[in-house]
Amino acid sequence: MSAPKTIYLDNNATSQVAPEVLEEMLPYFSEFYGNPSSMHHFGGQVGSKLDEARQRVADALGCEPGEIIFNACGTEGDNTAIYSALEANPDKRHIITTRVEHPAVLNVAQHYEKKGYDVTYLGVDEYGRLDLDELKASLRPDTALVSVMFANNETGNIYPIQEIAEIVKANGSLMHTDAVQAIGKVDIDLKKIPVDFLVLSGHKVHAPKGIGVLFVRRGTPFRPFMLGGHQERGRRAGTENAASIIGLGKALQIAKDNIELENTRVKALRDKLANGLLESIPDSRLNGDPENRLPNTANISFKYVEGEAILLLMDRLGICASSGSACTSGSLEPSHVLRALGVPFTFAHGSIRFSLSRYTTEEEVDTVLREMPAIIERLRKLSPFKSDDDTLLPPCTC
Ligand SMILES: *Cc1c(COP(=O)(O)O)cnc(C)c1O
Repeated sequence: MSAPKTIYLDNNATSQVAPEVLEEMLPYFSEFYGNPSSMHHFGGQVGSKLDEARQRVADALGCEPGEIIFNACGTEGDNTAIYSALEANPDKRHIITTRVEHPAVLNVAQHYEKKGYDVTYLGVDEYGRLDLDELKASLRPDTALVSVMFANNETGNIYPIQEIAEIVKANGSLMHTDAVQAIGKVDIDLKKIPVDFLVLSGHKVHAPKGIGVLFVRRGTPFRPFMLGGHQERGRRAGTENAASIIGLGKALQIAKDNIELENTRVKALRDKLANGLLESIPDSRLNGDPENRLPNTANISFKYVEGEAILLLMDRLGICASSGSACTSGSLEPSHVLRALGVPFTFAHGSIRFSLSRYTTEEEVDTVLREMPAIIERLRKLSPFKSDDDTLLPPCTC
């Protein structure tokens, strides 16, 4: 039997490089391989193309090209923003973040906590929403940095970053937002949103893996994370990843033009998928904010079954998604995000994140809608967790 055709509904994990992006990149692997910092014309022409890419990124975000620093990934951007904010304000020893951040922020916050910083982790309600009064009450004169993600990778929740940044700036603290999931799906204008740092990653917006952007607002004191050559005006050393920077510029230009499509066609397909699953499969629920959510994301829990087992059966049919219980320790703990929402364990263990893209077709959604009920029914017949008694489940360790 030949392998089934892949149905890729895992775009929040990584996304396909757009054909136009690849096409724009290819000459910079072969023909134009010069170093953009070289004095000769051969390298200089790569430098000019990088300037164009930087301008495209700036146009997509509503900022100046000089505020854009290219780096290796979203993780590097998050690490650098937090590092820089703390290094530049050594007298301020308090950080505020949330319980639902990506590990690229959460693990950095925990690292500084171990080093003696005070860290406030804002909680969320059952829909994953923040309480801005809690934020206001948490701000202190020595709060160096507030880090709140623009949109959550697991639930798709969108956070009110403009309002949050205004509150934070009024306190004289720095504001960082991890916008890796929001880019291309939410219209972001940095002229209106007063964050000091914003992070994005290429591979979540149909550019390659291994390229990212850190926006640093002009006038914000900056301490580089990576020391070495003078690249990126001394703010990020290391020879530029020229082809990927060029690809990211193209990807963001396309993403800007496609925000409308994401919020109409992609959203309609996502809604068809989510509503169809919730209607056809008993004991299922949507996790996250039913309203204020990324247009491509649906996180759905199927009670009494294990996410990993669901993924395995989906995988046999070529359907790719993620589970909300993947744990590095292998103990099948629900994710920190679903626990922060207080999703009951019997639901949280069977959570699947479906994340679509502009390449998702209606036919693919129909196939998933056709196959899922049987997968869940089959697993429920085998499930040891038929009771609502949470004590039957292993205790939470991560
Ligand atoms: C994927 C992701 C990251 C990490 O980006 P990388 O480029 O893979 O390092 C950070 N934050 C969020 C919200 C993400 O979804």
